[in-house]
Parts: sequence; C-alpha cells; structure tokens
Amino acid sequence: MAAQFFYCIQCHKKYPTHQKLFDTLYNFSKTAPEACPACGATRDLHVSLDFQLGAGDSDYKVVSALLPDKLESWLGEEEEEVTFYPFLVVLETSGGKQFCWMPYWHVTGREARYGQHAVCLEQRQFESLMAQVQEKLPEPA
Ligand SMILES: [Zn+2]
Repeated sequence: MAAQFFYCIQCHKKYPTHQKLFDTLYNFSKTAPEACPACGATRDLHVSLDFQLGAGDSDYKVVSALLPDKLESWLGEEEEEVTFYPFLVVLETSGGKQFCWMPYWHVTGREARYGQHAVCLEQRQFESLMAQVQEKLPEPA
C-alpha cells in the first residue's frame, strides 16, 4: 500500500496525511498543501509506493495530481451512482526524473474503491504515447 506525507522543504519535517490515498490526491488536485505548522514554509506532498521506478528509493514528490474536467458517472449495482476518478499524477524522484502515474478509483456513495494495476510510465514514454494519439486525430475542419 502507498503511504503519503507532507514534507517541509525548509525544516524537512514529515507529516503523515492521516488520509486515504484517494482523499490526499483529490485534495491535492484542488488546493496546495497548507504551510508547515512548525516553520511556515511550503510543504510538498510525497508518496511512498510499493513498487520501484528505476534505481534507488520508492519515495516520490507529487508534482501534480490531475482529474479530467468532466467525470463519468453511471448507475451501478443496486441503482447506486458510481463515479470514475482517473487521476494523472506526475511523480518526481529525488534525481529529478518524472513519471506519469495513473491510479484510479470507483466511488460509490462514500466508498472509494481503488483500481489495482495503475500504470506508471516515465514521462518521455507517456509523452510519446500522447503524441501518437495527437498524430492520429483527424485534422480540425
Ligand atoms: Zn517546516
């Protein structure tokens, strides 16, 4: 499981978010983390993942967490509304390498169910795929 914490860029204190990963990413997609209560400096959001991206650590700075402008909802089992939250999260290693991580959840009522097997690609690979999508789009009339 992923663990997430706020990390003060000045005094280097770590603060566990005490939230579920979904809530942490959702909040981060809406507003920047509050300043460090100890020194008032900016805090970054970090996640520790249970998979490694290349050599070294498994602690990543969350550069951005994005959701599509319009979310898809439908009626699931028992006529409950289900909403799909496909995140695009840009992660950065301590070495400055960026990855595009795409965890997703299905939210029913107050329950957020985590879709496993989220894809995580190095940014250049992700951009290569997106560029190919753009190439295949029909020219605007
Ligand atoms: Zn601080």
